[in-house]
Amino acid sequence: MSNPGELEKRYKVVIMGSGPAGLTAALYTARANLEPLVFEGIEAGGQLTLTTEVENYPGFPEGVQGPDLMDAMRKQAERFGAKCVYAEVTSVDLSRIPFKIISGEGLVEAETFIIASGASAKLLGIESERRLLGHGVSTCATCDGFFFKDKELVVVGGGDTAMEEGNFLTKFATKLTIIHRRDKLRASKILQDRAFKNPKIDFIWDTVVEEILGEKEKGVTGVSIKNVKTGEVTVKGCQGVFIAIGHNPNTQVIMGQIEMDEAGYIITKNGSTGTNVPGVFAAGDVQDRIYRQAVTAAGSGCMAGMDAERFLEEHSE
Ligand code: NAP
Repeated sequence: MSNPGELEKRYKVVIMGSGPAGLTAALYTARANLEPLVFEGIEAGGQLTLTTEVENYPGFPEGVQGPDLMDAMRKQAERFGAKCVYAEVTSVDLSRIPFKIISGEGLVEAETFIIASGASAKLLGIESERRLLGHGVSTCATCDGFFFKDKELVVVGGGDTAMEEGNFLTKFATKLTIIHRRDKLRASKILQDRAFKNPKIDFIWDTVVEEILGEKEKGVTGVSIKNVKTGEVTVKGCQGVFIAIGHNPNTQVIMGQIEMDEAGYIITKNGSTGTNVPGVFAAGDVQDRIYRQAVTAAGSGCMAGMDAERFLEEHSE
């Protein structure tokens, strides 16, 4: 997080979001001498700051702590002149250039606007889940599965993500239980069948997780669960809990101004990061419902930076 200092009135590039996508866009546009302004948002550094060890970001053979990686990305962008402010964009007017961007720091104008506000994994909303996130509770099997070798795991959810993550996690887990709040899955038939056939996977139906048991230092020891039909509360032992109940793209402030799909992900055009509004670009998880990896976000942040630079060149007075 950085000290905002005085903001200029007008910027060539304003970036909303400070995860791998936003900070890579900042790095590229800063190195093109465009002096970008980055609104870091309330979760500065994005989802990686909620995880501990990251082992699948290329270039770190020993792994890297998520918050350290994001700190390094911010410093690298700042070294070339990006300005990062710890403030949240509260509203935007994208009807004409210069775009108007309003935050707690007031109004700034932008000749191009890069949306890299990410997506947030939905959480159950219980205290223990936030406290133990990164300490036995995870929202990303690809990121954290490896840390649960020979452990017994629980996956919460009944959609495609829960089935896919459940199947993937059985590469590491000795046993895995999918806990779903209804008696029918929402997942596609093919992913359901794969999970039903997997000998390591069991299901607990009509059940919600009321509490995750454990401590930061020792990790997760189990979940307290309640059958919604009978009201019976029991404890199920496990050493890891994966919450797979969906994601929400962070698009509230641009709602109605940019084309999105039915789930709220921004639609980008023709293999670029361009949106339906010329001069507005989107990168990272806010436009990606499939891959959602730090490295793919960084890649699309690079594309957005280059797309914005090209747009400014083509539209310079
Ligand atoms: P989803 O389809 O919205 O499913 C979310 C699941 O979590 C549902 O089963 C839902 O239960 C449950 N849930 C939601 N809120 C909950 C809560 N507070 N407590 C307990 N359970 C809760 O989300 P998704 O599985 O992440 O999939 C998102 C989209 O990506 C879908 O369109 C999906 O098809 C797609 N996707 C596709 C693939 C693939 O094809 N390989 C892989 C992953 C995702 P209910 O069923 O009761 O609502």
